[in-house]
Amino acid sequence: MIAILKQGTTPAQMQHLVDWLKHMNLDVHVSKGAEVTVLGLIGDTSRVDMELLKSLEMVESVKRVSEPFKQANRKFHPKDTIIQAGHVRIGGGYFAMIAGPCSVESEEQIIAVAQSVKESGANLLRGGAFKPRTSPYAFQGMKGEGIRLLLEAKKATGLPIVTEIMNINTLDLFADVDIIQVGARNMQNFDLLKELGKTQKPILLKRGLANTLQELLMSAEYIMSEGNEQVILCERGIRTFETTTRNTLDLSAVSVLHKLSHLPVVVDPSHATGKAELVPPMAYAATAAGADGIMIEVHNNPACALCDGAQSLTPHQFHEVCHKVRKIREAIV
Ligand code: PEP
Ligand code: MN
Repeated sequence: MIAILKQGTTPAQMQHLVDWLKHMNLDVHVSKGAEVTVLGLIGDTSRVDMELLKSLEMVESVKRVSEPFKQANRKFHPKDTIIQAGHVRIGGGYFAMIAGPCSVESEEQIIAVAQSVKESGANLLRGGAFKPRTSPYAFQGMKGEGIRLLLEAKKATGLPIVTEIMNINTLDLFADVDIIQVGARNMQNFDLLKELGKTQKPILLKRGLANTLQELLMSAEYIMSEGNEQVILCERGIRTFETTTRNTLDLSAVSVLHKLSHLPVVVDPSHATGKAELVPPMAYAATAAGADGIMIEVHNNPACALCDGAQSLTPHQFHEVCHKVRKIREAIV
């Protein structure tokens, strides 16, 4: 349930109302906008007398929120959330161009890719250090050393970094990471989500291979309900009967998520398609659809990549993508 307060409600009046609601065993989330303040009531609202609440002097209106996600719900927080990652903002008109290799492979590789994607216009560097691979015999990532090298690349270029966590026991290694990624395979690792909710790090939450948008929002809710409101949603394709692409990019997810939620939505055309030639057109389509960012795998030598070479763009190809994405944004904003 949400209660929208009248303009001019004083902090003391609001506190009085919040205390009263808390007395009914409800958690109250206060979202203060420039014009309106919205109170989100979390818990068993079935016993709240809506008519009584509506009749209070400082209350403009009261609505039941039927969706099971509250904090991620746009009704709860009408304005777009803007996430701050280092000096970069994402959402509410700020666009994230996230690029880098699937996996960090060496110092030379990550620094060279970081420098080239930055020159092309990327504002965040991605690189996997802990890699969730289908085969236990495949390259599993450089782990802690990979994060150290990403931090070197951050120092060399000033780009904030995004990298995936697989196990909460490694959280200490992420102290200087700007955005922690939760991969598709961990979207419903609820213990991991809850622990990340206790941090104050921005979380890039990727949609699971076979998860609905409501399930994605419920996973965001797991993080937010623990106190961390900095969640970026990521559409990365879903499993369908189609076999010509690695996954099927669900671009309508951008509009649906924007409608349902105030959280920024980023699209990953690399994992969605699995093929480098399909990455540029899908990046353009995602930009035109209003995504708040794009995440693209870029490798200095895709043929020799230890992971996901077939879907990796060369720095030159990425340069072209950045140029066109900027033009599309100019056209649609
Ligand atoms: C990745 O971003 O490197 C990755 C493993 O993606 P996903 O979790 O979407 O498969
Ligand atoms: Mn990859």
